[in-house]
Amino acid sequence: MSANPPASPPRTAEQMLREAITDPRELTRYLSYLDRIKSEGMGTSVMVAPLEAAINWARANSLWPLTFGLACCAIEMMAVGASRFDLDRFGAGAFRPTPRQADLMIVAGTVTHKMAPRVMRLYEQIPEPKFVMAMGACTIGGGPYVKHGYHVVKGIDRIVPVDIYVPGCPPRPEALLDALFKLQARIGSDRPLAARWSKRAENELTGSARP
Ligand code: SF4
Repeated sequence: MSANPPASPPRTAEQMLREAITDPRELTRYLSYLDRIKSEGMGTSVMVAPLEAAINWARANSLWPLTFGLACCAIEMMAVGASRFDLDRFGAGAFRPTPRQADLMIVAGTVTHKMAPRVMRLYEQIPEPKFVMAMGACTIGGGPYVKHGYHVVKGIDRIVPVDIYVPGCPPRPEALLDALFKLQARIGSDRPLAARWSKRAENELTGSARP
C-alpha cells in the first residue's frame, strides 16, 4: 500500500501577491500594505488583493454558458454538463436559457448560413464581458463540409470573435474541459480596470459621451 504524498504547506499572502502581480511597482505597493497590516496585528484576519485579481477570479470561476447546440458536438457539450464530467465543479455549469444572463458562448456544431444570423444575434445579446468557444472541426473551419458544403460557414470566426478553439470531430468532453481551463487562465490575466480607464481616456479625447 502506498503512503499518501505529504501535503504541501499553505502559500503565504506574500507568495500569492508575488504570483498575482507582475508590475514591480504595483507589487511593492501591495507588499507595503501587507507589512502595514501585519504591523497593526491584523495579519491573520485581513486579506489584501488587487481589485483586478479579485474581479478576474470571480469572472473566471463563475462562467455561465448559453444553452444552445447546433449539431453532434453539442452531445459532447451536454456530456460535460452531466454527472460524469460535472462542469459545475469548475464554476461553469450554470447553462442559461437567455443570452442576457450568459457570458460564455460555446458554439458546438455545424454553423449553416441559415443559422449564422441567429448565432450573431445571440452573440450580440450577451452583455460584456463575453467569451466564445469554437467547439469542433465544423465550427472552427467547416469540418467535413469544408469542400462541398456550400451551405456551411467555413469558420465561426468569420461572424463572431473567438477566444478559444477546441479541435476534434467531435472533441471529447476532456478537451472541452481543457479549453475551459485555458479560458479561465486567460481571464485571470485580463486587465479589466485598465481597459476601462483607457477607454474612458479615449472617449474624453474624442468627445464621446459614453463611459
Ligand atoms: S465536428 Fe464532427 S461531431 Fe462536431 S458537428 Fe461537425 S461533424 Fe458533428
